[in-house]
Amino acid sequence: MHLPRRGRLELLACPAPCGTGAEIKEHMMDDRKAAFVAFLIANPTMKAAEAARQAGYGGSKPQSARAAGTRLMKDPEVREAIAKAKAQRAEKLEITADMVVERLWAIATADPNELMQHRRTACRYCHGIGHAYQWIDEAEWLLACQRAEKRHQPKPSDDGGYGFSEHADINPHCPRCNGEGYGRTFFADTRSIKGPARLLYAGVKEGRDGMEVKTHDQVAAMRDVCKLLGFLKDKVEHKHTFEQMSDDEIERQIAAFERGENEA
Ligand SMILES: [Zn+2]
Repeated sequence: MHLPRRGRLELLACPAPCGTGAEIKEHMMDDRKAAFVAFLIANPTMKAAEAARQAGYGGSKPQSARAAGTRLMKDPEVREAIAKAKAQRAEKLEITADMVVERLWAIATADPNELMQHRRTACRYCHGIGHAYQWIDEAEWLLACQRAEKRHQPKPSDDGGYGFSEHADINPHCPRCNGEGYGRTFFADTRSIKGPARLLYAGVKEGRDGMEVKTHDQVAAMRDVCKLLGFLKDKVEHKHTFEQMSDDEIERQIAAFERGENEA
């Protein structure tokens, strides 16, 4: 079959990382079909209609390309080529299903406390002498004195002494906080995060309201593990009408029905 010039050029320049273009072509009779598959494999987010258009289907009519995309996705030869190319890519990257499950499981079960914690620690009066306000050190007290002077306010007292640390434990007998302390948020040094927490970590964001540690979605990771292990059936699939199903899906549903597997 004749391949339009643009489709052929783009197929040759296909950026698939595993040389998919040439390999797909070897196994398929139709150049345009091979180009369609190559575009989809090179860019997994590409829509079938766009891949069909780029492969030379539909001419200048978007509707024709869309219809061709839908038809091609049902084509057994195309489906087989896509499955094969995906498997080949996984093999080249040495990715196994076990590795994917293990990684997702690590994210799902990681302890977010290793990344950030809300701790209750000593208030300024917990360990001050006579439970008076405790300064970090003399320098902090002197700075407070200077500020007070500028505002023509009385100098603060340093009767509570020095040595305050926001990491110190609460004094349960503190008359000021009644042993409740003060709530503070602590973030881990991200360079030293290891194990599952490292996989959970997705970067930091500094915004108007301060710093935010971002994490991957643990519930979604757990759901993906369940799906991969077959614990969950994707109910969405069963809501399809027969018109929306591919031939393979319809056959699978009929076979399941014949085996007596009730989907509900
Ligand atoms: Zn206190």
